[in-house]
Amino acid sequence: MRLEGRVALVTGAGSGIGRASAILFAREGAVVTVADIDAAGGAQTVELIQQGGGRASFLATDVTDPEAARALVAHAVATGGTGRLDVAFHNAGIGLVGSVEETSPEDWDRVMAVNVRGVFLGCRAAVEQMKAQSGGGSIINMSSSIANTGLGRRAAYAASKGAVLALTRSMQVDAAPYGIRVNALLPGTIYTPFVQGYLRRSFQGREEEALASIRRRQLTNELGRPEDVAAAALFLASPESSFVMGAALAVDGGLTAGKP
Ligand code: NAP
Repeated sequence: MRLEGRVALVTGAGSGIGRASAILFAREGAVVTVADIDAAGGAQTVELIQQGGGRASFLATDVTDPEAARALVAHAVATGGTGRLDVAFHNAGIGLVGSVEETSPEDWDRVMAVNVRGVFLGCRAAVEQMKAQSGGGSIINMSSSIANTGLGRRAAYAASKGAVLALTRSMQVDAAPYGIRVNALLPGTIYTPFVQGYLRRSFQGREEEALASIRRRQLTNELGRPEDVAAAALFLASPESSFVMGAALAVDGGLTAGKP
């Protein structure tokens, strides 16, 4: 029970990595607010948590909306039972395939709105609460291995994840005096609906072939599982990582370590 007595929120928790993290946080004793724009997915995550004996509730949240970001923190504090928010995992994000010339200004803005503005607004609301309580808290921001290693035709997505990493480090400096830790997760390719959708859209009829080539990018010759990233999020959420601040934690099967 590594999060016993803790109150946590996870955005984008209706699917993939966010869902696996919300389930793991609850299994480790946290009271979890599941936030997502997808109400059906969010409700399903809550059901899975409750079936496992955990405590969770869903709040429909568009992370690009400042009011929604504040309401999310208020909901987590109100339902957590301790008057605190201990862990905020800003995980919600969207992808976009395209080089700079292929990316429309509208698509650029959409990716930046969810992936960067969404994290910024979440951090703003969480820090306000964590400053007001004793002992601070842990903020985890979802970046990506793409912040450190280029991947073709991902201009807006890569820029957004680089921004999240830079935001995390800068924010950590300001937040440290209040006992607030701010760390970034940098997953490689994780087999989630996000990646399944990409394979379907970009490689119609050749998904297996594309998957085989993506497998070879990792030193493990395999994609990651949502649970692999959830385990790293749990470490950053728990007091075990109390000396880990402003870190970029890679969970990528050796993708950024080097080529075999
Ligand atoms: P996923 O399965 O698509 O889950 C993301 C969830 O976020 C979805 O339920 C999505 O809802 C929700 N969402 C989208 N826009 C939102 C908004 N404005 N407000 C609130 N929720 C919103 O994705 P995933 O693979 O688990 O990825 C989670 C995070 O990890 C993302 O930030 C992604 O960039 C990052 N990441 C993923 C990988 C990977 O290989 N999977 C690698 C590195 C980093 P809808 O389905 O309705 O859009």
